[in-house]
Formats: sequence, C-alpha cells, structure tokens
Amino acid sequence: MHEKDLVLDLQNLRIRFETDDGTVYAVNGIDLQLERGKAIGLVGETGAGKTTTALSMLRLVPTPPGIVECDKLALNGQDVLTMTDKELEKIRGKDISMIFQDPMTALNPVFTVGDQIAESIHLHENCNMIEAQRRAIDMLELVGIPGERAGEYPHQFSGGMKQRVVIAIALACHPQLLIADEPTTALDVTIQAQVLDLMKNLRTKYQTSLIMITHDLGIVADTCDEVAVMYAGSIVEKGTLEDVFLRTKHPYTEGLFNSLPNINDRKAMLTPIQGLMPDPTNLPEGCPFHPRCPYAGEDCRKPQTTRKFSDTHFVRCGAYDRPGFHIARKEEY
Ligand code: SF4
Repeated sequence: MHEKDLVLDLQNLRIRFETDDGTVYAVNGIDLQLERGKAIGLVGETGAGKTTTALSMLRLVPTPPGIVECDKLALNGQDVLTMTDKELEKIRGKDISMIFQDPMTALNPVFTVGDQIAESIHLHENCNMIEAQRRAIDMLELVGIPGERAGEYPHQFSGGMKQRVVIAIALACHPQLLIADEPTTALDVTIQAQVLDLMKNLRTKYQTSLIMITHDLGIVADTCDEVAVMYAGSIVEKGTLEDVFLRTKHPYTEGLFNSLPNINDRKAMLTPIQGLMPDPTNLPEGCPFHPRCPYAGEDCRKPQTTRKFSDTHFVRCGAYDRPGFHIARKEEY
C-alpha cells in the first residue's frame, strides 16, 4: 500500500497509565493503516483498548496519567505526533472527527443544536456565523431532521435524533476520517438500523474513511471493509471482512463467533469464551489470551509474533508453528 493512499498510518502504539494500583498496560504495540475511503471495524470486549486507541489518534489521551508512545502517527501524511495544540485544534473536527456512544454527553445542553453544528463549521471553514447557520440547517436536513428545528435544544430531541445531530456535527466539515465509538449502543434496535444506514450513506457521499469501534460483529459485517480484532491491548487478527469472517484463524476470534446465536440452528447452545479479560496491570506472560484459550500450550507462554496468511490477513498466534495446527471453526479458504 503506497503511503499517499493512507488516510491513517499508526505504527507501534503503546499506551500505559500510571495509577495507585500499578501500571495499566492499555495498548501494547498496535499497527493500524487505513486506505482512503475504506472502513475498518475495531472489535473486542470492553477493556480491550479500542477507545483508548481511537482517542490517541486525536491526541486526546490524558497525559498524565497516560503515557503514549508511538513510532508513527500520520493523518493524511501529516505527522500528528509533533503537532502543536493549535494545529491539533485545527484538525479535530476538520480532518478527523469522533462520534461517541452517548449523544447526551457529546451535546451541550445549553446551546441549540443549530448553533452547535454551526460552531464547528464557523471554527474550521473560515465562514461567517450567518453562512455557518445556513449550512447547519442543510446538515440537519441531510440527517433527516427538519431545518426549522435548528433553534431547539438537545433535551427536545429523542435519543436517535440526538445521535443524528452528533453525526451532523461530526460530518459538517467533511472530515477525511470518522471514528465512531459504539455509535448505536445507546439506541433502540430499530433506530440503530436507521442511524447505521445514515452513516453509510453520508460516508459514501463524502468519501469519508471510517473506524467503527464495536463489540457487535453484525455491525462490522454491515458497515466495514476490514476488521481488526483486539484483545488485552493488542490486535490479534486483522484482515478483510472475508478473511476474518470466513477464514477465521485466531482462537479468540473463533470464540467471539461461537458466542453468537445461530439463526439457522435455534437449538444450538451458545459457547461463551470462558473466563475474563486479564487484569491490565498484570497481563499474563506470552500470549495474553492463554489463560482462556482452548488451544493453549507451553509454547503460548513466550512472546508471540504476528504471522501473515495472505497480503491482507494477519494473525498473532504462535500455535501455527505446531505441525498441522488449525482451529475447529470451519475455514473456507
Ligand atoms: Fe491460544 Fe496459544 Fe494462540 Fe494464544 S498463542 S491464541 S494461547 S493457541
């Protein structure tokens, strides 16, 4: 992949937090590249480090107590690591935007929704407030809210409508990269589908690249081109949708799929992954999944490297050094 095609190039990201209970190893050496216009799903259980990884892309991890180290963080070829606070202010909302899980915490209750959208446009697009207000009304209508409601406050909207307003703010300046952190978790199922459809349509319209953070593999299948599965601060499997869904290689990814209900076999028992995510202040030696992994052996207690199964498919599991090793999930290679 040529560098100029990348909207995001993140290399060897490590994040830890110094706390009274010890050092929390939140992110442990992540590489993530995203091509312009593509969407990647960042999947994993709560505590896997997905949101912390995303916040680091906007340089929003609080330091201290956080300590962020990285070999490279480039957005559209610009080095984000060396940017001043003023330069960062310029790119946030303009080049890179983030949608958070709970729209109520993202919206300011004392300003009208129209003003909140217009503020972002005014700040980044060098236009006066009257023009920004006009564009805010256009954005509201684009997300399916009548423009005449621009003068209303967040509490006058339902949860789904509030999330539409948040999407309007995030996309108002047509960012190159949109990060959506569990954007539909706080919404009813019917509204979830509408919001996801809206995001898909707007992304196509503006050619926006997307990082979709979720624990829901259905949302990934519906909205993404690629998937990165995270566990205990590491990416354990990464590939195209087909690589990860049809040619699953990592035991943890297999566990995630086995935990899903099977619509074709309603009597089949769900098989949850046994145990819990490890304490990030005390990660197991070697593969962090080994205390829960049904395939664990002595070889799993040493540091694991990432191996390449194809140009697009990468897996961090040393068991593939064992002759003939494969997981139980049927592979469709
Ligand atoms: Fe399981 Fe070992 Fe592979 Fe880790 S390295 S996922 S413990 S088989």
